[in-house]
Amino acid sequence: MSYNRPLPKIDPVNQGFWDNARAGTLSVQSCRDCGDRRYPASPVCPKCLSADQEWIGVSGKGTLESWVDFHRAYWDGFKAALPYRVCLVRLAEGPVMVSNLVGPSDHAKVGAAVEVVFDAVTEDVTLPKFRMA
Ligand SMILES: [Zn+2]
Repeated sequence: MSYNRPLPKIDPVNQGFWDNARAGTLSVQSCRDCGDRRYPASPVCPKCLSADQEWIGVSGKGTLESWVDFHRAYWDGFKAALPYRVCLVRLAEGPVMVSNLVGPSDHAKVGAAVEVVFDAVTEDVTLPKFRMA
């Protein structure tokens, strides 16, 4: 069965993130000049405007900032997954990511510890998702 949900648009700016995810490493963009760390990617550093950016691996650990349950499928591909949980995770290293909260999460609460898991949905795309730690 082919994957029938929206996929990220991979471009030269975010390529490193998806390469790392496919290899099982969560990463954030880091500025080689001032050390600013961010996600999503930016072509230049928003703090110092340097174009010298790299992707650095992070722990994959973070805390739950918020979440929402989707009960309606806005794309047909999500019908079988209803209801599914979309979460906002503050990584231990600082940046915030939007992802899916997967696995048992009945005890979800703001500030709860979560950790990354990887879902290889196509040959090219592995989606980082989170579960309760
Ligand atoms: Zn910078």
